[in-house]
Amino acid sequence: MVKNKAAIKRFTTSLKGNYGVYLPKRFQCLHCDYAAPSNADLKKHNLTHTGERPHGCHICGRRFTLKENLKRHFNIHLKK
Ligand SMILES: [Zn+2]
Ligand SMILES: [Zn+2]
Repeated sequence: MVKNKAAIKRFTTSLKGNYGVYLPKRFQCLHCDYAAPSNADLKKHNLTHTGERPHGCHICGRRFTLKENLKRHFNIHLKK
C-alpha cells in the first residue's frame, strides 16, 4: 500500500545519501571491489590475487593462503 510515493522516494534517497557516513573506515583492495575492515585483513585478501600460499601442511604437503585454513585442514590429521 503506497499512499505517498514522493515521500517514500525522498526517504530512500536520503538513506542512500547518508549511507557512506555510517560506514567504518575501509581498506579498499586495488584489484577488486573488496574492502577490508583492517590493513591486516586487506593483506590477507591480497594473497587471493597473488596466488601466494605461504602456509604448508607438513604432513600431506597441501598449501594454504591463510593460516586459519591450514589450522582447519590440520584437524583432519588430528582426528585420525
Ligand atoms: Zn581484491
Ligand atoms: Zn595435511
